[in-house]
Amino acid sequence: MSDTHTEQMPLFSELGLAAPVLKALQDVGYERPSPIQAAAIPHLMAGHDLLGQAQTGTGKTAAFALPLLSRLEAGNRNTQILVLAPTRELAIQIAKDAEKFGAALGLRFALVYGGVDYDKQKTMLEHGSDIIIATPGRLIDYVKQGVVSLHACEVCVLDEADRMFDLGFIKDLRYLLRKLPVRTERQTLLFSATLSHRVLELAY
Ligand code: AMP
Repeated sequence: MSDTHTEQMPLFSELGLAAPVLKALQDVGYERPSPIQAAAIPHLMAGHDLLGQAQTGTGKTAAFALPLLSRLEAGNRNTQILVLAPTRELAIQIAKDAEKFGAALGLRFALVYGGVDYDKQKTMLEHGSDIIIATPGRLIDYVKQGVVSLHACEVCVLDEADRMFDLGFIKDLRYLLRKLPVRTERQTLLFSATLSHRVLELAY
């Protein structure tokens, strides 16, 4: 990522992130947030919802992963965060970043996507997870079978929402949203490269 704008940014250590997350940032050598991170982190640390227009390459994954990981409750036995991505490539990339930033937190991650490893992913979910990163279609299978419950999930991230429409996932997405706590009792984040009419309607 280019750091053309970063000199005017605060340091990560000034944004109230949890100590283990700051340590992970130090280990990967990130000192200052990108513009989207500087805007999103304080807002998400305060527990607010977010609608973000962001392309890949702007640092959007860390913009949501750093504050959400910082706010996780240690020892909670339920899934706390659900991240939905339209493609398996994006889900894998998000899981990589989240595991990197959250390595010292002792979290259980579940990566769920179609096409492979049905039973392996099922076993992983049955053992319990703090964070699920998933494509919608495969996760729905597990929810319908009662393998996983989302009723206590406090944070939901919808990444690349415009592509969710392009790939025909919107019905699946709405189904999964209905399995989460009601809107007022969860934190919801939506990222999209374009804020088209259909994306804004979904956000609403
Ligand atoms: P993303 O937009 O999330 O795909 O991130 C783009 C790339 O920038 C990824 O390789 C990140 O690891 C990297 N990156 C994210 N935030 C920062 C930062 N604050 N400083 C340096 N690199 C970063």
